[in-house]
Amino acid sequence: MITLERVGKVYPGGVEALREVSLTIDPGELVGVVGPSGSGKSTMLHLIGALALPTTGTVTIAGNDLSQLSDNRLAALRGRTIGFVFQQFHLAGGVPALDNVANGLLYAGIGLRERRRRAGNALERVGMGHRLTHRPHQLSGGEKQRVAIARAVVGDPKLLLADEPTGNLDSASGAEVMELLRELHSGGTTIVVITHDRDIAAGLHRRVYVRDGRVTA
Ligand code: ADP
Repeated sequence: MITLERVGKVYPGGVEALREVSLTIDPGELVGVVGPSGSGKSTMLHLIGALALPTTGTVTIAGNDLSQLSDNRLAALRGRTIGFVFQQFHLAGGVPALDNVANGLLYAGIGLRERRRRAGNALERVGMGHRLTHRPHQLSGGEKQRVAIARAVVGDPKLLLADEPTGNLDSASGAEVMELLRELHSGGTTIVVITHDRDIAAGLHRRVYVRDGRVTA
């Protein structure tokens, strides 16, 4: 599903965020990327999510070498193959949960009625079937993250990337969100979770430790 071969990422200004990172993640894995702030975790997730290109080395996602893809093909890969979950939820304010999720299918060429039907199913799947008309400000942090996860999986992506998904949640809500990710993983989705929380990391099948831009274990 994911191959990084001797990947380096240098930001303008010369910050070496990743150095010589090689890593393979197979379909169906549930992997944590663990490391302190500034170690390069988000940079790695941006590369895996086809949101950025490496400075050196090769990133291959679902059989696609990112450096060989046009901007349109990169966007299509992100839209069809990858779902994203962020610490800050990134839900549209004032928009009901159902439409926040349905909008995750805006670029899939599906009509509104079908988008909403699939969104309803995705919200059921994350235990939010009773909150379809709630707007983000009417939801708890844990509920917002469930809606964000429903939006990420409504298009049935093969790969789900979560950047500190429990970072803004109390520990009980965080544990529920991790349980939900484990359920999605049981359903066959490959999942990569970034975390600096060692307790969260301990519950994941495989952990990749990053420090100063290198994989250390
Ligand atoms: P983490 O997610 O582990 O906190 P990041 O991948 O965000 O780490 O950052 C790794 C390093 O790259 C840090 O030193 C950070 O300051 C730097 N960095 C991240 N993004 C940028 C950017 N857009 N421009 C310049 N430097 C950046």
